[in-house]
Amino acid sequence: MHKFWDNLLSFIKTLRKRFGNVGRTAKICGSMTNEKVLVIGSCGQLGTELVEALRGIYGDSNVIASDVKKSDNPVFDGGPFETLDILDADGLGAVIQKYKPTQVYHLAALLSATAEKNPEFGWKLNMEGLFHVLNAARDTGIIKKVYWPSSIAAFGPNTERFGTPQYGTMDPTTIYGISKLAGELYAQYYFNRWGIDTRSLRYPGLIGYKSAPGGGTTDYAVAIYHDALQTGKHNCFLGEGTTLPMLYMPDALKATLDIMHAPAEQIKIRTSYNLAGMSFAPEEIAASIAKFVPGFEISYEPDYRQAIANSWPAVIDDTEARQDWGWKPDFDLDKMTEDMLKNLRLQYAQNG
Ligand code: NAD
Repeated sequence: MHKFWDNLLSFIKTLRKRFGNVGRTAKICGSMTNEKVLVIGSCGQLGTELVEALRGIYGDSNVIASDVKKSDNPVFDGGPFETLDILDADGLGAVIQKYKPTQVYHLAALLSATAEKNPEFGWKLNMEGLFHVLNAARDTGIIKKVYWPSSIAAFGPNTERFGTPQYGTMDPTTIYGISKLAGELYAQYYFNRWGIDTRSLRYPGLIGYKSAPGGGTTDYAVAIYHDALQTGKHNCFLGEGTTLPMLYMPDALKATLDIMHAPAEQIKIRTSYNLAGMSFAPEEIAASIAKFVPGFEISYEPDYRQAIANSWPAVIDDTEARQDWGWKPDFDLDKMTEDMLKNLRLQYAQNG
């Protein structure tokens, strides 16, 4: 763990001793930093949880959530929300002038499976959205840091599948992967040419219980937990043996916040960092679930997403993230399964 977090955490501990409320003390810390954070595409799978985490650190009023359409998740009632289409550069400019955000998390994208259905729009949204954010950072001087996620989709069929290195063959075959690879290079270009502090992670498939996935090739790994509790069986759109890299949402949030809070000199890669949590095939997550839901069954009916999965890495080597800014995941497959099922059971009980 790097210095910033050490200092922040010891400060929170000191305040907690005095005030006895870590949420409140974290907000006190946040408001003392004068940071304002804009999250674009905040109502999706990642943004919903990230907004909550950021508001815990910086305070509700200092985190501006935005999306082309507002979700009814109560998370968004706790602080400012702006309806913003990232393809509208003037609209983005107006939001920046209104709130003067020092950090932007740009999450709006068309994901792998959805983008394959409309490749031209996938390219447009994923690329133009990034240009608008990077140009705003360059031209206004208000935004000090930009976070933009890449994906394991930036790799391709000729990439080393096991132990995929940070630097190796990158020949993506999906429009989503092509846009992520191009975006990585654009982000690095803006860092080199104009000094924009761009930071990025190549997320694996993200798994969480608080929000629904948005059309990716790894979405089955969320649906399978819901099915386990609702019907005791899951029909998987990927075939047996399809090993893919995955990450539990609390680890994804930790990595995202850690890279954004690391001192700039520790960020040695300005394209995007490899990031790993765990890797498993459908039959392995099913076996993990069966430990907690006896009799759970999986069947297979691979569809068009199988070809996408076949072009992606199986196990990622994230040595650079570990070395440069101290990345280390907390969750393995069984620990994630236990936590997912526990929280989903609670949710189902609460919602009836
Ligand atoms: P998601 O599809 O769940 O959410 C994307 C959000 O962007 C949605 O709320 C959507 O309404 C919004 N959006 C769409 N068009 C917009 C526009 N024109 N203007 C503003 N907002 C718009 O995606 P996610 O899973 O939360 O992913 C967030 C980021 O992480 C994306 O860049 C994605 O490529 C990356 N990523 C996600 C995963 C994953 O497994 N979820 C894996 C790798 C990378």
